[in-house]
Amino acid sequence: MERSIVTPSFTFISSPARILFGCGSRARLAEEIGRLGRSRALVLATPFQKTEAETLASSLGPLAAGVFAGATMHTPVDITLQAMAAFEAHGADCVISLGGGSTIGLGKAIARRTGTDQIVIATTYAGSEVTNILGETENGIKTTVRGPDILPETVIYDPELTCGLPVAMSVTSGLNAMAHAVEALYAQDRNPITTMMALEGIRALYKALPAIVVAADDITARSQALYGSWLCGSVLGMVSMALHHKLCHTIGGSFDMPHAETHAVLLPHTTAYTERGAADLLKPVADLFAAPTAGIGLYDFAAGLGAPLSLARLGFAESDIDRAAELATLNPYYNPRPIEPEGIKTLIRKAWEGTRPD
Ligand code: NAD
Repeated sequence: MERSIVTPSFTFISSPARILFGCGSRARLAEEIGRLGRSRALVLATPFQKTEAETLASSLGPLAAGVFAGATMHTPVDITLQAMAAFEAHGADCVISLGGGSTIGLGKAIARRTGTDQIVIATTYAGSEVTNILGETENGIKTTVRGPDILPETVIYDPELTCGLPVAMSVTSGLNAMAHAVEALYAQDRNPITTMMALEGIRALYKALPAIVVAADDITARSQALYGSWLCGSVLGMVSMALHHKLCHTIGGSFDMPHAETHAVLLPHTTAYTERGAADLLKPVADLFAAPTAGIGLYDFAAGLGAPLSLARLGFAESDIDRAAELATLNPYYNPRPIEPEGIKTLIRKAWEGTRPD
């Protein structure tokens, strides 16, 4: 039976974040600091984006209290403590996170502990800037928390700042964003608005990513990809995720695999698995890709973009397949097609081999 997009009853909570979108929107940063009633911002970045963070800080003059360019993947608590010491030493009263999920995670970790305001200038498509979710690592264990202080107050999306994101990273980061939207389509707590946003986000990335592969500085495609990533990130923050995110969390966290690439490889396989319990909800994705199923459509799309297709290529050991399946099925959780240990093991093996879903 085909399910209606309009679920019989639902709850919709709109995100209170303020979004500034458009080429050159970074020029409005000083105005935004003032709008929040702040005057001394600590600029955060990864070591790789340190120069850009310093340039940004100089452009702010006295509104910038300093730069901390030590952000790293998975938000380790010891780095957060170093950044908080810098926050206090510089007498900062807000943070500006310039970068992707790693830098945004650090800003969120500081805000969670201090209640400070965050302005994010997002430069990847991962979507963390519009969620109230923080994943932190301590003693090798990654835990995820949600909370009102975690959601950044203001997000600046300036497509010009994404032209330097290498094509390979743009592709995997874009597929990471699509994964949020695909899972939102069959989320237990979805609603008509999240479905609309998810489909629009997938459509925007479907158009933009092939154009970025052809020309990394195609500003129209960069704008479209960033628009899509905003929508996909927004739905990640609004509804619950299921098998795909659980598996990425397990494989990424327990086996130290790269975040966006792991999402990119697993998405066609988790979609193909779940499609057997949600073919109607995923049909718009299959239709968009003009494919027999959404799983096949996503696989062929990723292959056409030159994305990594197998966990083996990412360095995942064949001998870890059973353990990963065991970890991913430890706690029962909602998925439209129930989580069956043998089925999950087969899914991970297919992703490890990189074979096209059936
Ligand atoms: P990232 O932030 O780790 O960035 C990867 C590298 O690319 C970094 O060196 C960064 O400095 C560089 N980079 C970023 N933008 C660039 C640009 N425009 N040009 C050149 N280089 C650029 O990558 P990511 O995939 O955005 O984030 C991954 C992290 O985010 C993971 O830890 C993941 O768990 C987290 N995440 C969290 C959420 C959430 O809602 N909490 C959502 C998505 C991802």
